[in-house]
Amino acid sequence: MSRRSWRAAAVALAAAVGLVAAGRTAQVRAADPLIVIRAGRLIDGRTFAPRRDQLVLVRGRRIEAVRDASEAPPAGATVIDLGAATVLPGLIDSHTHLFLQGEEPAEGGYDVQLLKYPLSFRVARATVSARRALEQGFTTLRDLETEGAGYGDVGLKQAIEKGYIPGPRLFVVTRAISTTGGYPLEDYAPEVEVPKGAQIVDGPVEARKAAREQLDHGADWIKVYMTHRSWVGKNGELASQPTMTVEELRAVVDETHGWGKKVACHAYSGTGLHRALDGGCDSIEHGLDLDDSAISQMLKQGTWYVPTLSVYYTDWAAPDTPDGQRDRLRASAHEISFKKALKAGVKIVYGTDMGGIPWTEPIAQDFPRMVEFGMQPMDAIQSATSRAAVMLDMEGKIGVIAPGAFADVIGVSADPLRDIKLLENVDFVMKDGQVFRGK
Ligand SMILES: [Zn+2]
Repeated sequence: MSRRSWRAAAVALAAAVGLVAAGRTAQVRAADPLIVIRAGRLIDGRTFAPRRDQLVLVRGRRIEAVRDASEAPPAGATVIDLGAATVLPGLIDSHTHLFLQGEEPAEGGYDVQLLKYPLSFRVARATVSARRALEQGFTTLRDLETEGAGYGDVGLKQAIEKGYIPGPRLFVVTRAISTTGGYPLEDYAPEVEVPKGAQIVDGPVEARKAAREQLDHGADWIKVYMTHRSWVGKNGELASQPTMTVEELRAVVDETHGWGKKVACHAYSGTGLHRALDGGCDSIEHGLDLDDSAISQMLKQGTWYVPTLSVYYTDWAAPDTPDGQRDRLRASAHEISFKKALKAGVKIVYGTDMGGIPWTEPIAQDFPRMVEFGMQPMDAIQSATSRAAVMLDMEGKIGVIAPGAFADVIGVSADPLRDIKLLENVDFVMKDGQVFRGK
């Protein structure tokens, strides 16, 4: 084929594809049936007061309108009557690990994941975790690193988006970044080279390169570890080992922000926590011991706080051991930090660290803990809906029941504002306009 005829053929093909694509879109739009969800109570994710007796009109992937149920549903619409149920936006967990399964010590703990399991086995299990999340009404996850499973999260996200497997919308970080001495696997003979659960860097040049690689291969966010080991310090404080320097972190943040993306920082306390803030982290993960200066800096910089409370209340070592004392201090310091951050008005976003917790447990288990620590139930719900959406640059698209948003809609049998634990029993789940669970 001559160059000219090749070009002509290419133009003709492009035109044909364009026409077909445009025609198909138009046809699908016109043919998309209208689904009407009738709800006894609606929590829209954004406003503070619930509304009684509402209709949510869904066409295709989107919410078309929200109306009072005193109006009759449009003729020809499929009505899903949820009776007295409370309808909410699909929930968002902003700190999960689909590629971890609770690391039961009896099953070989963390190390076996990296040392013995083929990647295919880990991916297969991650698909089950993703399904578990969707079943429980979590229609979006920010999954905060694959723990040695490389770029497995990027492929998992593709498989969900293309409809091969059910699962939530995923925001993925791929490998995560830490420094030498800053992440497992560890405690092996120095002569033995073992894989690491994160990409290890030393120096700003390597740090920037790691961020570039991960962004290039599909990371939606970058995750860095700013602290690693923790223990009870000389003065009874929660001490933690800092990992990256401010210079290393700044290289990562500068690179990532250049791509229009954000950086999540695992940070417990002390020097590492302050470096995370000085280096410009967008979200602080865990933040077990937030001192007053950290809180004021978070307010000033608009830093998000993803506390992940529940994971620190289980699997404590025996009380008379250093680890046991450390475990108890982590929980008690965390409670104080959460309460201070809440009072100060830090932007708190729902996150659990699922994967650190087995996926067989309820993902909604952090809600009762947040409420126990003084958060209003509606505030806790918004931390997992509209507020998380803002952090994820998805404001108005997810985490809200409003016209134009993706039709991610869940239902619970009664009023979660009276009993927040109801969110552990979601019995209707729609994602992207498709009913996954319930009627
Ligand atoms: Zn985590």
